[in-house]
Amino acid sequence: MRLILLGPPGSGKGTQAKLLCERRQLVHVGTGDILREAIRQGTELGRRAEPYVKKGLLVPDDLVNDLVNERFRRPDRPQCFVMDGYPRTLAQAHAFDATLRQQMLSLDAVVFVAVPDEVLVRRMSGRLSCPRDKRTYHVSNNPPPRPGYCECGTALIQRPDDKEETVRERLRQYHQNTEDLIPYYKAQGLLRDVDGVGGIEEVFGRIERVLDR
Ligand code: AMP
Repeated sequence: MRLILLGPPGSGKGTQAKLLCERRQLVHVGTGDILREAIRQGTELGRRAEPYVKKGLLVPDDLVNDLVNERFRRPDRPQCFVMDGYPRTLAQAHAFDATLRQQMLSLDAVVFVAVPDEVLVRRMSGRLSCPRDKRTYHVSNNPPPRPGYCECGTALIQRPDDKEETVRERLRQYHQNTEDLIPYYKAQGLLRDVDGVGGIEEVFGRIERVLDR
């Protein structure tokens, strides 16, 4: 199965993408995770992306398009996958279409996880992330087993881009750019709407239902 998970920042699409990958043996392609890792390692890509990611702005299309295209041209390219956080603009959607065509792959569905803005701000400003295994928790909705620590034992952090001011900027970027993708994929008959308000398993159940329909 080849999927795109679409939704505002904080909609839980990262968590849902990871669950889908675990339970349906899919490869997770998360551009946010890849960019943060590149920044942490101080690579050329990381150096170019850092000023944008820090401010909650979208990294230029060319940079992410090249990153994804390169990932799909490797001999170990993903065959069955979940795209998480890409594409985020119409230009990226067109570039991704071209990448998939090049690889003779086609999409099965685009799952749109809908969550209202107020819920998103509340969720993201309480989010805690593990810098090691990328697992995320929430101070009240999904607390870690031991306060302040991930299941893997690493101390949890608040991602710099989860600070309230940055969260609002990320939401502005989402409404300005990423929402355009909804009519784009709807016109192709690929869009599946899912209500993203609720517990992790509850939302996962809804995703499974729209995929198995
Ligand atoms: P995420 O973890 O998906 O919310 O991504 C975190 C940050 O990485 C975003 O706020 C952007 O700065 C950057 N980013 C991730 N994916 C993309 C993309 N497809 N296009 C542009 N910027 C991106």
